[in-house]
Amino acid sequence: MTSLLTFPKGGVHPPAAKGLTSHLAIETMPVPDELEIILGQHIGAPCTPTVNAKDEVKEGDVIGEVTKGLGVPLHAPIAGTIKGMGQSAHPMRVTAPSIILQTNKEISAPRYTPKDWHSQTKDELLKRIHGAGIIGIGGAGFPAHVKLNPPKDNPVDTLILNGAECEPYITADHRQMLEQSHEIVEGAKIILKTLGITNCHIGIEDNKPDAIAAMTAAAGSTPDARITVTPLQVKYPQGSEKQLIQSITGRKVPAGALPSAVGVVVHNVSTTKAIYDAVALGKPLYEKVLTISGQAINRPANLRVKVGTKVKDIVEYLGGVKPSLAKIVMGGPMMGFAVSTLDLPVTKTTSSVLFLTEEEIDTRPHSQCIRCGWCLEACPMGIEAKEIAIHVEAGRPQDTAQFGVFDCFECGCCSYVCPAKRPLVQFIRLAKMKAKR
Ligand code: SF4
Ligand code: SF4
Repeated sequence: MTSLLTFPKGGVHPPAAKGLTSHLAIETMPVPDELEIILGQHIGAPCTPTVNAKDEVKEGDVIGEVTKGLGVPLHAPIAGTIKGMGQSAHPMRVTAPSIILQTNKEISAPRYTPKDWHSQTKDELLKRIHGAGIIGIGGAGFPAHVKLNPPKDNPVDTLILNGAECEPYITADHRQMLEQSHEIVEGAKIILKTLGITNCHIGIEDNKPDAIAAMTAAAGSTPDARITVTPLQVKYPQGSEKQLIQSITGRKVPAGALPSAVGVVVHNVSTTKAIYDAVALGKPLYEKVLTISGQAINRPANLRVKVGTKVKDIVEYLGGVKPSLAKIVMGGPMMGFAVSTLDLPVTKTTSSVLFLTEEEIDTRPHSQCIRCGWCLEACPMGIEAKEIAIHVEAGRPQDTAQFGVFDCFECGCCSYVCPAKRPLVQFIRLAKMKAKR
């Protein structure tokens, strides 16, 4: 038996906790009366509203544009009336400017019918992907059309679709691979055409054998697209871009470089589905599949919701939370952010909301570093998190670049293994912020 592919350095094995939702088919949540659509949903410049209070909009209408710099437009997730501009709660920035939409569920949604995209040129495909507001919805929100147009001096020969979904609890990609495998494969062919290449690997962790089977059945390679499903070892953070590339191709992305530096473009499977919707159906990105899980939500689910849906409406739809609720996390337990309000609206990059009990979190206070070295051993990037933390505590965050603070992608492996429960990622975030100033 050959051993499964994985990355060579670091990584951890947190409890998967996916059993709460992995068997639950994607369910479409009824649209709430009001949506809050945050203007800055991607890396790059936030959108400027193109609508005013009292304007009537239809589902899919452009409501925000980026006029300068990197970015994509924003679309109305459903028909309704613009109530005005507001400030919405945000998991990282406290508040963020948004458009408030009073929804009108009486107006019927547009019908999207598949059209043949094969005759379109690369430029036409890129224009549609940009116009549909597609960003990396499984990660940092990088505009997809930019990734699909890599610099000419770094020829790309391989597309990797990220279906690893290594974060505990989250099963939204898993369900999409089961339920929309043909659309994802069609999306992969669209991406291959824009890149002018034929080679694609779909990386999926081995704990999703049904997704591996579904995607393998759908992949059916053709002369213009060699699509291979590559099962991967279950090891966090298998789905991080650099680790995924190394696992599948053996190529190492240099510090500070993009995957195209080693001839690779990576897209998440759910982004690939959104690219299919944009190109083959003409449907912009304004709804999203996310996992709602944890022992403290009354009814865990994989939900398709409109962008701008507030967490409080989701909680109400799922029958509320249990009295044992101890912590709410937006994103996964390893890389997500603890939040203190249910007023947060879902954005294009929200992958999950977790409602965790005391038993599912670790509330022990942190203590001094005992220099055990476990954090270094667990770090996939070989970063000395303990040194960064010690310098931050000593008031010298500006001196942490020498320990590789800017190579840290905040996966949380170091914090996870630390026996002293030191908040290493928080120290690292602080060091990055201060060192940049
Ligand atoms: S959070 Fe940063 S320092 Fe810690 S293990 Fe991950 S990459 Fe390494
Ligand atoms: S794992 Fe924690 S206690 Fe051990 S060296 Fe790293 S920071 Fe110190």
